[in-house]
Amino acid sequence: MQRERVFNFGAGPGTLPLAVLQQAQRELVALPGVGASPLEVSHRGTWFRDVIDRAEEDLRALLDVPPSHHVVFCQGGATMQFSMVALNVVAEGTPDFVVTGSWGTKAVAEAERLGGAHVAWTGEGDGFRRVPSSKELAEALSADASYAHVTTNETIQGVAFAHTPVVPDGLRLVADASSDFLSRPVDVSRYAVLYAGAQKNAGPAGVTIAIVADDVVKDVPDDLPTMLDYRTYVEHGSLYNTPPVFAIYVVGLVARWLRDDVGGLDAMLERNRAKASLLYDVLDGAPAFFRGHAEPGSRSLMNVTFRLPSDELEERFVDEAAAGGMTELKGHRSVGGIRASIYNAMPVEGVRALAAFMREFRDRYAD
Ligand code: PMP
Repeated sequence: MQRERVFNFGAGPGTLPLAVLQQAQRELVALPGVGASPLEVSHRGTWFRDVIDRAEEDLRALLDVPPSHHVVFCQGGATMQFSMVALNVVAEGTPDFVVTGSWGTKAVAEAERLGGAHVAWTGEGDGFRRVPSSKELAEALSADASYAHVTTNETIQGVAFAHTPVVPDGLRLVADASSDFLSRPVDVSRYAVLYAGAQKNAGPAGVTIAIVADDVVKDVPDDLPTMLDYRTYVEHGSLYNTPPVFAIYVVGLVARWLRDDVGGLDAMLERNRAKASLLYDVLDGAPAFFRGHAEPGSRSLMNVTFRLPSDELEERFVDEAAAGGMTELKGHRSVGGIRASIYNAMPVEGVRALAAFMREFRDRYAD
């Protein structure tokens, strides 16, 4: 039976900081000063009020969220945000979608059900290997669109924007940042809405963070169902109904860890770059054996995706790695191959171990 912690390369829910898990463990049965579990306390009590306020404050500080933007905690995953964005961000015109992988494709499908979507740029033709250049983006996007939607990091393909995409003046930019949220500093002021399911970098599944510009909130149409209306969350401090108390508590612990242990998002980005390059260096050093999926300029720092010479070798790679304490390396069922998710909480030791295993595996199996 597995008793030790493995290096978990799963794409989400992903690995969490050990210090956070240990604090949650210490407090699970009886919170100091409260005497009840974070799984049992009222969302209306002072303990939780303090937790949610501090979580918001820390997220604001980490991301330097300007006063023009609200930070709200929703449920329903990033998938529900596909619908909420389409319902809430309304203006003349159809939204322009920049599709760089599977999640952008899903976002388009939801917007199509709710008024329409225009695929302004897609990487589908070459198997989602890159993001568009600034020039391609400028040519593809229309200032008359109601908003532009991007996926900052495509979790399945491992394709990411290295910088905030530039959109025409006046065009609202919406981003699904689920899998690179809190992995780097972001200029939040450039976004009308930035949303992220927590279960990769920010905490456990069950809570989705949405950062919404006040001018979007002011324009929300009046006839939306209560829980699909951003105003409900803004006006009630994300406490209109019972929120996912435990998940928000853990998001608060992760935000504290990022602030106090890591030292903020600049330091996090530095760590993430160093970790990712350990793996990309292995791919680049043996291109006949490891075939990286993403083009170099579009490589994700969070999800490193590659193929081996055969399906059989990929299966063996996943099995041998798991036997060595490195789990969840199988690529998404829709694309196959190998995917190493190296979120914020993956220690550099785990990435070093994987890089060493990759080299050794190649030495054993390359022709
Ligand atoms: N967008 C991205 C980029 C994702 O990685 C995921 C989940 N893997 C989703 C959306 C869907 O998120 P959820 O499962 O929280 O609905």
